Amino acid sequence: MAKIGINIATGSLQQEEIIIGIDLGTTNSLVAIIHPEEKKPVVIKEHDSSALVPSVIYFDSYGNAIVGSEAKKHLITEPQNTIFSAKRLMGKSYNDIRQNASFFTYKVFDDDTERLVKVQVGNRFYSPIELSSFILKELKQRAEHILKTPVNKAVITVPAYFNDAQRQATRDAGKLAGLDVLRIINEPTAASLAYGLGMKSDEEKTVAVYDLGGGTFDISVLRIANGIFEVLSTNGDTYLGGDDFDAAIVKRWMKEHRITEQQVAGDKALAQALRIRAEEAKVHLSTKDVYIGKVNDYPLQITRQEFITTIAPLVDKTIQCCKNALQDAELSAGDIDEIVMVGGSTRVPFVKETVSRFFGKPVHDEINPDEAVALGAAVQADILAGNNKDFLLLDITPLSLGIETMGGLMDVLIPRNSKIPAKTGRQYTTQKDGQSNMRISVYQGERDLVKDNRKLAEFNLTGIPGMPAGLPKVEVSFLINADGILMVKAKELRSGVEQSLEVKPQYGLTDEEVEKMLLDSITHAKEDIATRALVEAKTEAEQLINTTQNFINKNREHLTEAEINATGNAVKNLQDAMAKEDKDAIQRKIEALNELSRPYAERLMDKAISMAMKGKSV
Ligand code: AMP
Repeated sequence: MAKIGINIATGSLQQEEIIIGIDLGTTNSLVAIIHPEEKKPVVIKEHDSSALVPSVIYFDSYGNAIVGSEAKKHLITEPQNTIFSAKRLMGKSYNDIRQNASFFTYKVFDDDTERLVKVQVGNRFYSPIELSSFILKELKQRAEHILKTPVNKAVITVPAYFNDAQRQATRDAGKLAGLDVLRIINEPTAASLAYGLGMKSDEEKTVAVYDLGGGTFDISVLRIANGIFEVLSTNGDTYLGGDDFDAAIVKRWMKEHRITEQQVAGDKALAQALRIRAEEAKVHLSTKDVYIGKVNDYPLQITRQEFITTIAPLVDKTIQCCKNALQDAELSAGDIDEIVMVGGSTRVPFVKETVSRFFGKPVHDEINPDEAVALGAAVQADILAGNNKDFLLLDITPLSLGIETMGGLMDVLIPRNSKIPAKTGRQYTTQKDGQSNMRISVYQGERDLVKDNRKLAEFNLTGIPGMPAGLPKVEVSFLINADGILMVKAKELRSGVEQSLEVKPQYGLTDEEVEKMLLDSITHAKEDIATRALVEAKTEAEQLINTTQNFINKNREHLTEAEINATGNAVKNLQDAMAKEDKDAIQRKIEALNELSRPYAERLMDKAISMAMKGKSV
């Protein structure tokens, strides 16, 4: 039965829970939803204010976190208490950011250089996850205030180059802010969705997303086919953006008025005023031909042509990144079907013209470049809410998929976060002579032992022709199609016998369960490694005992009584070590047994060869 909620604020009935799309940006963040009546994505904002919330957190003297424009006011006056660009710290250790440490005007704690960074404000420490959660909490509250309804679910975007740790950190930040993060999606994917690219199931396109913000530049090349967005390559410069345009204008003015570096270093107010005028000039020149302003007694002027000359080297840098991205994707500029412009700095007409000239076609700039990513996140949220049934956006597998191998170990065939559709195969063999069946058990999870993971299915490959252990070649292949259905096939390559099975990998797993499984894998990592080593040692021991006993039985008459007894003792010692579950002892006893049996195995081998040469066989 469907649940129907009543909105306490308005008294209206709500049938569906709202899912918001969040662009959690380095400089600004914003929220979008699908408009309930117009069915189109819209950013949410108070009537006259901007939808952009500066990603800045200010901690007042009581330790309260204030987020947004209010916080931004403290950037210059209280840099030590005002945190900006927290996104740059997500999933990073101090060593990762050491080179750019001077960029942060607040204290990035460097006590333990290997561990994830913390930010120190007064006597309190905050992780980047907590800092991002303050921003997300503010966005959630804003959305609730404007929509007059509780908001608990979200889709959050991240840069395409974010690694696993950074994606997980973003997810955790959402959780900390009281949001159920249904999906983390790539910013360029979201921007493409905002333009409706990839919304038709039979559409195949190669898209370049050019994202030039205030402080960062990203170029991503995506391949869209059958509703699947594949990131072919990413490139960029994490310290290049509109702020550098402003700095270049300031430099030009300083030169004109012979203002020295020392002068601005000693006069923070002058530095700040020049920077503000420079940004004003830049924005003005996006629509006008000349800017005229003033700071103190300095008249400030710049024409559009002068501005172009000033920023040209910076724009050239972005084009170089585009070239690199194309090269990595093994494409040329002409292979790109659509170019999507994202980020406030793509409003500069010279940027648009340069990019369009490079790719040889017009760029998409119809959507507000500050809003495209959030709007796309809202489109994705709508798909997840099930309102767009004929469109399925699957991107990655949330957990690893694999099969059970000797000793109950998990052998991963498709690692978590693999792109879908995915296909992979691996060869296995039998453990026993004449083994005619092989059980294939399919598991999902991150732990080293299958007993700690989730069993999805099991089947038997039967009819393997009798062969000595180790000879059959059983290829197990996994295929996940675009609908998230896993096909498992096992085939014995020498005889051609095969068996296959269809599995629904995610069936019944909630987001919380997935998260718990991931968390468990981290908590138990050490213990898992130890267990895996023990299981591997035991498996090796078992095989060695088997082979040794087979060997003795077959070759009794060629061995002395002493050799047989000594071998029996060594086998017994190894079995004792196995019973004690002592990995190191097992390895020592394996070594001892090998040492003992090697000479007579070699001796018999020589004998076999010499007899074979005489035309006989042993
Ligand atoms: P974002 O990080 O995407 O919010 O982009 C912010 C950057 O875009 C800042 O450097 C702004 O100065 C710049 N920006 C915003 N509007 C304009 C405009 N009309 N013309 C040029 N740059 C702009």
